Amino acid sequence: MNQIHHYLNGNSIEGRSERFAPVYNPATGEQSAQVALATADETREAVRIADETFASWSKVTPLKRSRILFKFKALVEERADELAQLISREHGKVFSDAKGEVTRGLEVVEFACGIPHLQKGEHSMNVGTGVDSYSMMQPLGVCAGISPFNFPAMVPMWMFPIALACGNTFVMKPSEKDPSTPLRLAELLTEAGLPDGVFNVVNGDKEAVDVLLTDERVQAVSFVGSTPIAETIYATASAHGKRVQALGGAKNHMVIMPDADLDQAVDALMGAAYGSAGERCMAISVAVPVGQETAERLREKLVAELAKLRVGPGIVDGPDNDMGPLVTREHLEKVRSYIQTGVDEGAELVVDGRETVIEDVASGFFLGGSLFDHVKPGMRIHSEEIFGPVLVIARADSYDDAVKMINDHEFGNGTAIFTRDGDAARQFCEQIQVGMVGVNVPIPVPMAFHSFGGWKRSLFGPLHMHGPDGVRFYTRMKTITQRWPSGIREETNHFTMPTH
Ligand code: NAD
Repeated sequence: MNQIHHYLNGNSIEGRSERFAPVYNPATGEQSAQVALATADETREAVRIADETFASWSKVTPLKRSRILFKFKALVEERADELAQLISREHGKVFSDAKGEVTRGLEVVEFACGIPHLQKGEHSMNVGTGVDSYSMMQPLGVCAGISPFNFPAMVPMWMFPIALACGNTFVMKPSEKDPSTPLRLAELLTEAGLPDGVFNVVNGDKEAVDVLLTDERVQAVSFVGSTPIAETIYATASAHGKRVQALGGAKNHMVIMPDADLDQAVDALMGAAYGSAGERCMAISVAVPVGQETAERLREKLVAELAKLRVGPGIVDGPDNDMGPLVTREHLEKVRSYIQTGVDEGAELVVDGRETVIEDVASGFFLGGSLFDHVKPGMRIHSEEIFGPVLVIARADSYDDAVKMINDHEFGNGTAIFTRDGDAARQFCEQIQVGMVGVNVPIPVPMAFHSFGGWKRSLFGPLHMHGPDGVRFYTRMKTITQRWPSGIREETNHFTMPTH
């Protein structure tokens, strides 16, 4: 059985624990490897290495740190196909989605390459007579990242490029379901010239995470995953004096106004609801047509499009499938049970993905796209995150009802409105209680130079990921106010500056 290890101090290190988690190829259903689950001691060892390396790494000039990231970017670009295949093999998303994920991660690396500019700080002369004031943005120390299964390359890349660029060292704890990609990224960082010990990967579960949340040498924790875990991570790490950003789950609604271009909206919905088998925190899982006529037309078009959805494994050479399998059999069963819950709750199951036959890959964790209609707030298939290829239509009588439905929801990650009415769109952007909003854009993921984060129970902590908030999160501001006594120039006039 192929073993997946840790990455410490610039080397692949075999785990010493007796505990392992299985890693599957979701397209075949076969176990492809097992990953070592780090003990608390092994995790503390990673923290010790990162802590000891901080003294030297934080003194490396921002320009040199940026040059290493430029090399890393070139290496990731060169190996993009290899990385995408690795993602697809362990996560299951089709090859084109996996390549897209690598590209989105790279954009954060590109942003982090600008660190000499981003970490400049501020300066004011003569804040008082002969007094100057300046602020510097210093690194924090050891930072930890804990990531979910659904973006094994992109989510770690939301975190470590900026953390490292700012002069921090890092311990990454990837999802145990698809751990190989972050390990490959660690090797590429070493190849790019990152000193040993600056970036370390510990594979594991709660035992490893608990150390990262409580060890006093860890200064900051970035987490992305489900809401119950995000909430616990935020509470525990904050109670131990750490800076925390913990991104949680989502239930994203798309409002379709009566004047919307319906073909455009349906095309957008198909990608946003069923892409990556719905395993995306920015997936649209609720369509909210305004008015009965819009709802009828929308439903008809969605049913026609669903009949054309190509479900199957990722294809590297040639036209790819639209949607791959779910990540594990356990998750597949959970999503299937949600479909049954929807039926039991009285929603109308218009297309049942459980009946989709995927030829030649019968043992993979595949499920066809499902569509519910007449879903009401209060039903579990509306209130809970399913994280699978299940789109529900929740009809609204008016624009105000649509806004109320979204604002009353527990999550506030992403949302979108499709309309031709600029005034409605503008009002929507102002009124909606959601962190990321699209206008005729179904998945409004901010670019790397903006920050990514939701509202309500989709984010715990004040700072979003990457962009300006990312730099703020991974640095601590120190402000110096200085006055030099007059006359010092005369006393030191004899001193000549050294030349280089
Ligand atoms: P998860 O919460 O099960 O796991 C996330 C991480 O936490 C993993 O590394 C896991 O090993 C660790 N973990 C799990 N249980 C733990 C525990 N009890 N104590 C400590 N650590 C624990 O999430 P997942 O299933 O891997 O990912 C899917 C979830 O992530 C969805 O809810 C999705 O919405 C969310 N997500 C959110 C965003 C966002 O930006 N808001 C982005 C991607 C994914």
